[in-house]
Amino acid sequence: MATEASAIEQTVAEAERALRGYSGHDVPDDKLLRDCVHCGMCLPTCPTYRLTGSEASSPRGRLWMMRAVADGRLDLLDDAFDEQMYQCLNCRACEAVCPSGVQYGPLVEAARSQLEQHRPRPAWQRVARRVALRFPFDDVRRMRAMVSGLKLYQRSPLPGLLRKSGILRLLRLETLEAMVPPVREPALISGEESWEPDAATNRAHLFNGCVMSTVFSDVNRAAGRSLAHNGYATNVPARQQCCGALFVHAGMMDEARRLARINIDAFESAGEGKIVVTAAGCGAALKEYDHLLKDDASYRIRAKAFSDRVVDVSELLGTGDLVQPGGDVSLDVTFQEPCHLAHAQRISRQPRTILEAIPGLTLTEMRESSLCCGSAGIYNIIRRDMADGLGDRKAESVRDTGVSTVVTANPGCHMQLRTSLRRNGVEADVIHIAQLLDRAYGGQHAAERGDWAFTRGDAPHQSTGKS
Ligand code: SF4
Ligand code: SF4
Repeated sequence: MATEASAIEQTVAEAERALRGYSGHDVPDDKLLRDCVHCGMCLPTCPTYRLTGSEASSPRGRLWMMRAVADGRLDLLDDAFDEQMYQCLNCRACEAVCPSGVQYGPLVEAARSQLEQHRPRPAWQRVARRVALRFPFDDVRRMRAMVSGLKLYQRSPLPGLLRKSGILRLLRLETLEAMVPPVREPALISGEESWEPDAATNRAHLFNGCVMSTVFSDVNRAAGRSLAHNGYATNVPARQQCCGALFVHAGMMDEARRLARINIDAFESAGEGKIVVTAAGCGAALKEYDHLLKDDASYRIRAKAFSDRVVDVSELLGTGDLVQPGGDVSLDVTFQEPCHLAHAQRISRQPRTILEAIPGLTLTEMRESSLCCGSAGIYNIIRRDMADGLGDRKAESVRDTGVSTVVTANPGCHMQLRTSLRRNGVEADVIHIAQLLDRAYGGQHAAERGDWAFTRGDAPHQSTGKS
C-alpha cells in the first residue's frame, strides 16, 4: 500500500515537473520565439557551436529549448536548459545573420530572468552574485571606491608578492588580476568635467558608465576631447549610474530597470543632445531601455526617447563629416569588433572610417574580427574554459596579422584581449579607438593650444544646431 502511494506521489511530482513552464515577469515573447524557422544559417556564426559542434550549443538548439519550455515539453528547471542559457555568450552574432529577424538577445535575457525567478540556487551562489554584481554595479560610488583601492594595490609591491606566493592562484584571482590594466587617471566623476569648443555646432552628453568612468576614465576623457574637436560641446551629466547591462545579462531585470530609470531621469535633466557611449556593451543596453521598460507605464515612452538619443562614439564620429586629424600616429593596427558593436548595434563600417582617417596608421584586418573574444560580461570569469578557447583563437588571429596594436571599443574585450594575448605570447598592445583618435588630434595638448576649452564643473552650454 505504502509502495503504491509513493509511486502515485512520484507520478504526480513528475506530472507537475513536466508542466513547469514560464511564469512571473519577463516571460520570453511567444511570437518572437516562433519567428525561428530552424534554417540553421546562424550556426556557423555561433562561437559556442563552433567550439563544441553540438546542436544544443547552437542558437537553433537554444531557441528550440526556449520554445519547448513555453510549450510544456521541457521543464524550466531542467539542468540542460540552465546550462545552455548560460553557456551562450549573448554575443548576438546569430541575430545579425538571421534571415527571419529572430531577436535572440531579448529572448535569452528573458529566459535567464525566468531561471533567476524560479530556479533555486545554492546559498553560496546567491551570496556570490550579491557581492560580485550587486555591490559594485548598483552604485557607481562603490565602484569608484573599489577602483581607488585597486589603484593603490597596483602601485604597491603587493601584486608581485601575492603572485610569487601563489596566494592569488589559491584565491582564483590570478586571471582577474591580470585582466585589469593599470589605472592611470583619476576617476571621471559625472557632473565635474566638460569640453567646450570655441564654436560649438552641436551638444553631446557623455555616458560615463561604471568601469569606463573608473578603470578606463582615460578613454572617456579622450572621447570628450575628440568630440570637442568635432564641434560638440560635451558634458558628463550628473547623477547617472551604470547602464545595467551586466544585470540584464545575468537575468537580474529589476536591478537593471532601477538603473535605467535613474539614467533616464539624469539625461532628461541634462537637456537635448546625443548621449554618447564609449563602451559597446553599455551602448547596446542603453539602446534597449525601451524594451527593458516596455511594461512601465510612466517610463515606457521616455525610455524610447532616451534610447533614440544613444550613439556609440564611433557611430557619431565615423562619418564623412569627421574633422581630419593632423597628427601622425605611426602604428600597425588591427580592429577587434566588439560583439555588442558589430552584432547588437550593427556598427562595423564607422570605426574603420575613423581608423582610415588617422595619418600614419595602417589597418590590417584580422581573421574572424567579429567573432566573440570570450569576454561577454563576466563570462570569462565564471566560464573560463570556453572563454579561454575563444581568447586563444583570437590571439592566433592577431598573431597572424603581425600588428603591434589591437584596437577595440569595449572594456570587456579590452581586458579579455590583454590576458589572451599575454597567455599566448603575442606581443601586442590593446587600445580603445577613442584614444587613438584623440592621440591623432594632439591629446591633452590640444587644450593647451587653445583648440577648445576644458572646464571642471558640469558647465551648461547652448545648443546651436542639431542634437
Ligand atoms: S535563429 Fe534564424 S538563422 Fe537561426 S535557425 Fe532560427 S531562423 Fe534560422
Ligand atoms: S548569442 Fe552568440 S553564443 Fe549565444 S547562441 Fe547566439 S551566436 Fe551563439
